[in-house]
Amino acid sequence: MFEKDDIKELISTCAAVIEAHADELTELDSAIGDGDHGYNMKRGFEALCADADVISDKPLPDALTAAGMKLVMTVGGASGPLFGTFLMSFGKELNSGMDPAGFASAFVKATDAVAARGKSHAGQKTMLDVLYPVSKALTDGISGRAIGDVAEAAAEATIPIVATRGRASFLGERSAGHMDPGSKSTALLIRGVTDWLETRA
Ligand code: ADP
Ligand code: MG
Repeated sequence: MFEKDDIKELISTCAAVIEAHADELTELDSAIGDGDHGYNMKRGFEALCADADVISDKPLPDALTAAGMKLVMTVGGASGPLFGTFLMSFGKELNSGMDPAGFASAFVKATDAVAARGKSHAGQKTMLDVLYPVSKALTDGISGRAIGDVAEAAAEATIPIVATRGRASFLGERSAGHMDPGSKSTALLIRGVTDWLETRA
């Protein structure tokens, strides 16, 4: 089960991962976007840390929903509303069950919610190119560190893609050869969460 202290630790773990990689995310976004992704993510997770006491008072599903709403409200750019939508949907769906199958099904539905919100789909060089492979791996029963591996490999696999959604799509063919920043941050967070879960196992 996830108690108040676990939720607080989860928030600070994710915030630390983003903080440690903010410059790298900014560099990736400078290459094919507008260079604000590191800042956007940092700002969002700082807001979650500031609210951690209130958020962690709730059961995990409601805490995720509250965290998602906070990201939507505080993060500028495309990524805030999209990560926020993911967490809000994930939290809502987890109310149907928190066993491994319930987690997998909630992750799939949250990924679909991001696609609906972003009017985007797999293969366009966006965070969905990490979320969909991870959805599939979870549905296939994969867990633990292997999920982090899937996420990292999926982020690497965005490098050759020509972007057709998001700011990077303005560059057309020139967007190829760079990793998608949102895919990198998604993979970092998934790695951070799966590593943290392993330490509790
Ligand atoms: P902005 O693009 O507004 O500057 P960020 O730089 O914070 O916002 O986030 C960019 C990331 O958001 C991209 O790398 C991509 O992964 C993701 N993204 C952008 N648009 C979409 C979309 N329509 N669907 C899914 N993900 C998207
Ligand atoms: Mg940007």
